[in-house]
Amino acid sequence: MEHAQVLSALGFSNDELTGGSLAVHSPIDGAEVARIAETPLSDMATVIAQSKQAFKAWRTVPAPRRGELVRLLGEELRAAKDELGALVTLEAGKITSEGLGEVQEMIDICDFAVGLSRQLYGLTIASERPGHKMSESWHPLGPCGVITAFNFPVAVWSWNAALALVCGNPVIWKPSEKTPLTALACKKIFEKAVSRLGNDAPEGLMQVVIGRADVGEALVTSRDVPILSATGSTRMGSVVGPKVAARWGRPILELGGNNAMIVAPSADLEMAVRAIVFSAVGTAGQRCTSLRRLIVHKSVKEELVAKLVKAYGSLPIGDPRQDGTLIGPLVDRGALDAMQGAIAKARSEGGTVHGGGPVTEGVPGGAYAAPALIEMPGQTETVKTETFAPILYVMEYEDLDQAIELQNGVPQGLSSCIFTLNMREAETFLSATGSDCGIANVNIGPSGAEIGGAFGGEKETGGGRESGSDAWKGYMRRQTSTVNYSAELPLAQGVKFDI
Ligand code: NAD
Repeated sequence: MEHAQVLSALGFSNDELTGGSLAVHSPIDGAEVARIAETPLSDMATVIAQSKQAFKAWRTVPAPRRGELVRLLGEELRAAKDELGALVTLEAGKITSEGLGEVQEMIDICDFAVGLSRQLYGLTIASERPGHKMSESWHPLGPCGVITAFNFPVAVWSWNAALALVCGNPVIWKPSEKTPLTALACKKIFEKAVSRLGNDAPEGLMQVVIGRADVGEALVTSRDVPILSATGSTRMGSVVGPKVAARWGRPILELGGNNAMIVAPSADLEMAVRAIVFSAVGTAGQRCTSLRRLIVHKSVKEELVAKLVKAYGSLPIGDPRQDGTLIGPLVDRGALDAMQGAIAKARSEGGTVHGGGPVTEGVPGGAYAAPALIEMPGQTETVKTETFAPILYVMEYEDLDQAIELQNGVPQGLSSCIFTLNMREAETFLSATGSDCGIANVNIGPSGAEIGGAFGGEKETGGGRESGSDAWKGYMRRQTSTVNYSAELPLAQGVKFDI
């Protein structure tokens, strides 16, 4: 589909796409596809006030009814899957199946959140005092600001929004300035679900604000936005995190990763090669969970590198809309320059580089590159830095302790994995002395998480958790209650205070 067809299939009018101050380019060919209006900073106070007002109504709607809205959203997403997937491809440059996969992830989290809307469980707790009952309940917390990155332009919003909404919170979404159209399309889809729900959804339940860091900043600094979920670079998180903390807000930070795979002597190398190639070059290396470091036992390194060089040589690079393409474009020229800069630095640190050059033939414009495989003499500063591009650094190890030390020896802590058929090695990797990451896998790559588990990472990845498991608790406030149904007033810990 041509760009204009994709946009019109999602109901965009010419007025929405022209005359604004924010130029939107497609990574596919670099073409400007729209100029959309930005939210004036002076409007942010009204946006936040409207969200606060919506909270007053939404928190009183029973949670299963709130879940009904999310169920309808899931239905609307199913109906719009092809069109929205095509827009993800247009705006973020993902190959078609990954664009569709991202929408599927949205549908999956909606399904999860619908079930959750009947399971926002608290606890009852044994009281030490006779005739007393202790319990714990979960209540809505308030407006939830969601700041998202370009590389998962819709799924990350849905991870947050589906949970926040069933938990009773309105949402204000500031998408990346590189991918605002997907956000506006989601808003249109959301509105369809709202109109099917009827009167229960208040005005301003889900708002989208368009702009750059300063628009996000208005959410970050507002005391009326108690939850602030921010996904992006560690640089952004290092600014946002302290600001949210300083005003006593609750930050959910999902920041950069520098994900590794350990390949042990017993590994099934054929399986490892497939997992490595998908994790390292899928989405052109632009996933927070992309594989960036390969830590290989010296006994299998030569064989594995030879297999990878061969596999890398035959990967189809080009227009992400075409069947058969596996590597689409980088998001923009700046990303390509950063990739070339990192490769040059790695070379100067003693790296042996395979591939990695810009690709200009057989592509429709845009910033395309061959994936790079770089054999490194050690874990240098360049290896410790996340470069958001398909670069895989390869290092060797002699024993598992050394491999785990290398795996953990970077500032980020998102995703990790080991390929081994040795149960002792696998369990050590998952133990308290193993991987220090939020995600640790065995015989599966570091990228491509399912929504059922809590998603997020440690250290400079920010410590936030989103999506499945009990991540919903991050969107609610916990209340501990003690009820005295006796005729006495005993104090805890046996304290006497008779008057
Ligand atoms: P980025 O940090 O440049 O921008 C992310 C978002 O933050 C954008 O919406 C941007 O406008 C906003 N922003 C930037 N500075 C801000 C500020 N001071 N105040 C408020 N908002 C601000 O990131 P990007 O280039 O869009 O995305 C790539 C990065 O995101 C990578 O580092 C990747 O690892 C990370 N990422 C992490 C996860 C995760 O779940 N851990 C998921 C996706 C992407």
